[in-house]
Amino acid sequence: MNEDENVVDPSHPRYQSLMIRKKIADAGAKGMLADSAMIAHGRGEAFDYLLGEQTIQSAQDATREVAARLVRARKPILSLNGNAIALAGAEFLTVASQLNCPIEINIFYRTPERMGALLGNLKMLNTKLGLDVEILGGVPDARIPGLEGPRGACQSNGIFEADTILVPLEDGDRCEALTAMGKEVLVIDLNPLSRSSRKGTVTVVDEVTRVASNLIQMIPQKPSVTEWNNDQALLAALNHISSTITNKFQ
Ligand code: ATP
Ligand code: MG
Repeated sequence: MNEDENVVDPSHPRYQSLMIRKKIADAGAKGMLADSAMIAHGRGEAFDYLLGEQTIQSAQDATREVAARLVRARKPILSLNGNAIALAGAEFLTVASQLNCPIEINIFYRTPERMGALLGNLKMLNTKLGLDVEILGGVPDARIPGLEGPRGACQSNGIFEADTILVPLEDGDRCEALTAMGKEVLVIDLNPLSRSSRKGTVTVVDEVTRVASNLIQMIPQKPSVTEWNNDQALLAALNHISSTITNKFQ
């Protein structure tokens, strides 16, 4: 990044990554994120670096499986946190409109101000894109069993009743609690070792903006659900990382 943190030099070899980081910085300045958001993002960046900042084959396959399960679902929902909205809010609105399903905002550190900023941002994008996606999360009236405090709050006509839930950048124990409710939990997480990655039904080990764009391409193709082996997909990502590292020293 340049000395002026608002300007990213397009000739920088990792321009794309710096632009994504800037989206988090800008959203933080708008009051959409908790202070820890950049740390969570940095953890993702580190894994993306090791993956070569690309969609690897196993992630492509996992994204197709996610698209298939969202299309098959009786009541799908996209559960978005602040980082997911900051990075790919417009893309997820498009995905929700393709699926004709709602988005529910669910944030780790809930304050009325931050919730208001995120709701306002998605509503603005909804109008800008000419979409009419239902946006939930503002008035939680149900609880995810086993989760204390605001993190367990959800809406009865949203996450609580959904059979299939897409959770980008989810916290591990919330992912586990949603799985325990009997839902299909579709995870997007760059860290193949995180609890979310290991507890999900299908995990896409890829950067959230790349996944959202790929989903927009794949959903209209209505792919078929397969017998998915998630551990095998996580191992493929880990093998890719280890061969990237080995190749650097050859
Ligand atoms: P867990 O709670 O699942 O064990 P964690 O506590 O290490 O994971 P959290 O802070 O709860 O991590 O969640 C953030 C997760 O989101 C991290 O695993 C990180 O790799 C991932 N992540 C961050 N930014 C991105 C991104 N842009 N795209 C995809 N994943 C990301
Ligand atoms: Mg966590």
